[in-house]
Amino acid sequence: MAENVPQHTHCHICMKAIPIGETYCSEECKQKYQSMAKRRKLMVYLMYGMLAALIVVIMLYNR
Ligand SMILES: [Zn+2]
Repeated sequence: MAENVPQHTHCHICMKAIPIGETYCSEECKQKYQSMAKRRKLMVYLMYGMLAALIVVIMLYNR
């Protein structure tokens, strides 16, 4: 199976074909990605917080 498509990659946000070496097709997609990454980081902190709370609850129950 030979693919005769010129080397390219895809925008991480909208999956549009873009030249190799690029990550996003536009400034808009770059900003979208950055706000998404920020939200994901927030979720991770939230999960850690919930885990810590859970551990405290378990420890209180086991006393
Ligand atoms: Zn894009």
